[in-house]
Amino acid sequence: MRATRVVEGLAASTPFIGPERLMRERGMRELVRLGANESAFGPSPRAVAAMTAELERLAWYGDPDSYDLREALAGRVTCQLEQVLVASGIDELMGLCVRAFLEIGGVAVATRGTYPTFAYHVTGYGGRLETAAYTSEGSPDLDALAATARRERASIVYLANPDNPSGTFLDAQRVVRFYEALPPDALLLLDEAYADFADPAQLAPPCFDDRLVRVRTFSKAYGLAGARIGYALTTRTNAERLERVRLQYGVNRNAQIGALAALQDEAHLAWVLRETAAARAEYEALARELGTTTIPSCTNFVCIDMGSAAFATEVMAALLDRGVWIRKPGATPLDRYIRVSAGTADMRRTFAQAFRAVTAERRSIATP
Ligand SMILES: *Cc1c(COP(=O)(O)O)cnc(C)c1O
Repeated sequence: MRATRVVEGLAASTPFIGPERLMRERGMRELVRLGANESAFGPSPRAVAAMTAELERLAWYGDPDSYDLREALAGRVTCQLEQVLVASGIDELMGLCVRAFLEIGGVAVATRGTYPTFAYHVTGYGGRLETAAYTSEGSPDLDALAATARRERASIVYLANPDNPSGTFLDAQRVVRFYEALPPDALLLLDEAYADFADPAQLAPPCFDDRLVRVRTFSKAYGLAGARIGYALTTRTNAERLERVRLQYGVNRNAQIGALAALQDEAHLAWVLRETAAARAEYEALARELGTTTIPSCTNFVCIDMGSAAFATEVMAALLDRGVWIRKPGATPLDRYIRVSAGTADMRRTFAQAFRAVTAERRSIATP
């Protein structure tokens, strides 16, 4: 008995090693979680109240149409409800897009070392991933991505904007120019997981075209990562295509309720954005104090330059020994950075103490 050719051909891979596993392996009871860009500021209390009040009805399936939430989202972005598709997070939506738009053996293009779930789906569905490196400043290289897409006749091009793990942001004009430079039959999968942290006036314009699927989430600014809920914005035609392979009851009922309440709590979101900006500023100041630099971030995390990949890895491990969990980019040229999520003032203090201690032996991080 064998699995499919595609699955037999896959190497076992773990796109994310969770902090729970790290704690189990080390016999630790708690960690300061600054590794997954979760919101340290939590979900809206209104979302928690709405979800708590509805918990008793968990015997019921959620609305397979996610109607109320889609209606609210369509009102926000000014589109039709039929152009909004809700799923259990961007991670699931990326899988649906790959399944719907990439043939087995087809080519997809992404930045080398960017958010890993897209690559995971591409190989998982039997596609081939081609990559272009980040620029030396740490942003996705739009010219190289477009050239790779044209050369490889790509079916899907993935761009995270704002980007993870770099935190960089490309303004509307640059994204539009990039979109226009792609082959006419390539789909742009625009991952806007961090769009809530960006200046709305600088986001790519609300464009509804069959060549574009944008995906967004309640996992980051809205603090609902554990609830698993996100949405796609696209044309009715594409939404209907994705509908054909969508899991009808894949969205948690409680998540639908929490997301709707969270969307209506604008004050909480504004507070999260202010706290996140304060955390970024503090990390930047800390990096300066220690003689190094950060990549300007438009997200809820900051990359700090450790001078070399080896030292970045060492620092990450030493922080873990001190109970602080962060991550680091895996591919050059960003692999010499560590990536730290925005924490509360307490978490930041713990991080800063541990970070100063583990880097204390080096006079300057940037010149090891
Ligand atoms: C966190 C993150 C996601 C995951 O979103 P979910 O809705 O939780 O699946 C997707 N893309 C990027 C770039 C992210 O950083």
